Amino acid sequence: MTPIKIVLLYQSLLGIYGDRGNAMVLRKRLQWRDIDAEIVEIEPGDAVPADGAVYLFGGGEDAAQISAVKGLKADGHIFEAVEAGAVVFAVCAGFQIVGNTFTVGEHDEVIEGLGLIDVDTRRGTERAVGEILSHWIKPDGTESLITGFENHGGFTTLGSAATPLARVEIGIGNANDGTEGAVQGKVIGSYPHGPSLARNPELADHLLTLALDRELDPLPMPELDELRRQRIAAIRKAGRS
Ligand code: GLN
Repeated sequence: MTPIKIVLLYQSLLGIYGDRGNAMVLRKRLQWRDIDAEIVEIEPGDAVPADGAVYLFGGGEDAAQISAVKGLKADGHIFEAVEAGAVVFAVCAGFQIVGNTFTVGEHDEVIEGLGLIDVDTRRGTERAVGEILSHWIKPDGTESLITGFENHGGFTTLGSAATPLARVEIGIGNANDGTEGAVQGKVIGSYPHGPSLARNPELADHLLTLALDRELDPLPMPELDELRRQRIAAIRKAGRS
């Protein structure tokens, strides 16, 4: 069987927050289930494969976001892949890039994003920095906690085609409006780094379920549950002003 392709995009531009770990987590969770998987790293100038199962974007600086959008638009395959049903998980700068528009620089220049998800990002009223705890609203309506750390100056608002990924308990999230992230079809944007999928294995498995279009065997890991319990307790204890 051909390996499941996890496409890690433009780490030289969007690799400064350690979000590449999301690719490793997805590959490992497939391998633990005896499903063959590979990470394909794509840099600006390389052709983006159109047959990836999951496309991952990470965090980065404003200027890098402009270059990333240019490269991905010139290549064009990301649009084909999403059209064909690929999963996109885009973190922070990546989340802003996959949206309709975002602003950069002192003069808040408006840049057109990839338009894969109906969100717009503008300079926020404060910089969001610190641990974030949110309640992921799962497709079946139940909730699960997501932990991570956020570090962004852009505030993101959702258009009518996108729904929030989670509601914020502690932290800023999209725009200090109680929401975090956005979902539109199989495109998911979210602010937390961590890497997020290492801290939130259930979210990782959700992406894989979407990508493979089938339920996956559970991977019980009591030590990971305990780490999560401790981390959640620590975030709640510390809070954020
Ligand atoms: N440059 C963006 C912002 O500050 C994204 C930062 C990031 O990816 N952490 O809003």
